[in-house]
Amino acid sequence: RGGPKNLPVVEVFVDDSDSDEKRRTKNKPKLVVLGGGWGGVALLKDLNPDDYHVTVISPANYFLFTPMLPSATVGTLELRSLVEPIRRIISRVHGHFVRAKAEDIEFSDKLVEVSQLDPRGNEVRFYVPYDKLVVAVGSVTNPHGVKGLDNAFFLKDIDDARKIRNKVIHNLELACLPTMSDDERKRLLSFVISGGGPTGVEFAAELFDLLNEDLTRHFPRLLRNEISVHLIQSRSHILNTYDDAVSKYAEERFARDQVQVLTNSRVKEVQPDKIIFTQKQDDGSLVTKELPAGFCLWSTGVSQTALCQKLAQKLGNFQTNHHALETDTHLRLNGAPLGDVYAIGDCSTVQNNVADHIISFLRTLAWKRGSDPETLQLHFSDWRQVAQDVKKRFPQAVNHLKRLDKLFAEFDKDQSGTLDFGELRELLNQIDSKLTSLPATAQRAHQQGHYLARKFNKMARLSEGLTANDIRDGDLDAAVYKAFEYHHLGSLAYIGNSAVFDLGDGWSVAGGLWAVYAWRSVYFAQSVSFRTRSLMAMDWAKRGLFGRDLMS
Ligand code: FAD
Ligand code: MG
Ligand code: MG
Ligand code: MG
Ligand code: MG
Repeated sequence: RGGPKNLPVVEVFVDDSDSDEKRRTKNKPKLVVLGGGWGGVALLKDLNPDDYHVTVISPANYFLFTPMLPSATVGTLELRSLVEPIRRIISRVHGHFVRAKAEDIEFSDKLVEVSQLDPRGNEVRFYVPYDKLVVAVGSVTNPHGVKGLDNAFFLKDIDDARKIRNKVIHNLELACLPTMSDDERKRLLSFVISGGGPTGVEFAAELFDLLNEDLTRHFPRLLRNEISVHLIQSRSHILNTYDDAVSKYAEERFARDQVQVLTNSRVKEVQPDKIIFTQKQDDGSLVTKELPAGFCLWSTGVSQTALCQKLAQKLGNFQTNHHALETDTHLRLNGAPLGDVYAIGDCSTVQNNVADHIISFLRTLAWKRGSDPETLQLHFSDWRQVAQDVKKRFPQAVNHLKRLDKLFAEFDKDQSGTLDFGELRELLNQIDSKLTSLPATAQRAHQQGHYLARKFNKMARLSEGLTANDIRDGDLDAAVYKAFEYHHLGSLAYIGNSAVFDLGDGWSVAGGLWAVYAWRSVYFAQSVSFRTRSLMAMDWAKRGLFGRDLMS
């Protein structure tokens, strides 16, 4: 027992000198990873075996290939094909798996507080000790304080996908019953998606494909014009973090496919049989509307897990972002003892001080002109230069800042055509608050996990013969390895049998079969194992031959 709460301290590793494996890692530092998602798994994939005692703690015993989750909801892919047992992944590094939930971290004692349910359903708590800890617990769906979300469906985990699939099929079956009234049938066949980000858009596209391709064959009683798909988006465009051309393409595509897109609209309440939402009119007024619905998907973004909220609170002034845990550029959790705790993936963000960077850029500009920065009047052409510089240095910012030009006009309050220092300060504040967040994508979590693995490998090599205690001292991170840099490789969204690519610099849109295969091959390459790849290939082949699997 030990720690502030005097809970049992669990040594996950059995000291077994008969086993070669265990002898090899006996005196190695204990590396504990919280979460077996994109970030955690990328780390495990690239870590050298036997450099660390590896323990993964997660309530889920599988890795989930999230980009394909929308396809699984409508039976294009089998749910089983999207998951990979975490124990399989860990075995390469001879690690251990503890199926439990991290509740808290005692930074000074280096203990993770963990909870688990015993067979009687009582909660058991204990500590797992670490030398190095990686927090990669991801995020939770953001409820935005909306009423009646227990009537909505989410799309975050494999169980969610299963529930959605069963609900969609159930609605179709009910709608076929001869006793069903016309109104009730139309309601059952009205599918509403709240959230016009990639998840909502991909789900809408998959649903539309299902309704179009398989329905007439398997549910001949249903009339296509009785089915409706509605996408509710709070902004003025769907896929609004993508390039304008991409969101325009997606909107046109949906218009042609008769997916109704309701922009400038916010869901206020989800009732069992209808959605209440407000829509902003051209004159700025809000009108409340209703939409009968047989199904509602809630996919309006993510927020912090309970664990991360607790950690941020505990670390007080070191943590100022309300959406994610802040790390330094070596991905070390700000406020925790240096080099002990790292945070990666959706749960984290790297502080990059864009505002500082811009200010030093402006100082240089003022200096070149021989003027005082405080009295500098920034013209639009200067601003373009600043914007270009920011885009180059902070490529992850491009998505958030695609309207940099418009910002200038917005912050030029007196419409003088120049920004004075006060106006500029306001603008920088807004930019900084937006830019501290890296995108919540698998791509980013993967890059960060990969980065940590490389660094940890290097640390272990340099510290051969040293004990865990030696490794802890000093700023080893900066000494052995470079800072983390995010590389934006473009975003990808799937829109009904054609893929939309947004590759950062420029954009390209492709349609037809070629696009589908390009899209699939991107995910094939990202997919974690040969096992998963084969299963997906078989699913696609099966769907091609026999249509979707419509059993619940
Ligand atoms: P996750 O992958 O969510 O992993 C978190 C892990 O932590 C899980 O294993 C979870 O069980 C575990 N965990 C949670 N709480 C605790 C706790 N208290 N203690 C211990 N473990 C815990 N991104 C893209 O780049 N491209 C896409 O096409 C794409 N499509 C997506 C589609 C859908 C439907 C969804 C939901 C997401 C999609 N994403 C996509 C986003 C991507 O999945 C996330 O950005 C990514 O999963 C983040 O990785 P992570 O490791 O931070 O978190
Ligand atoms: Mg993870
Ligand atoms: Mg995951
Ligand atoms: Mg994470
Ligand atoms: Mg002005």
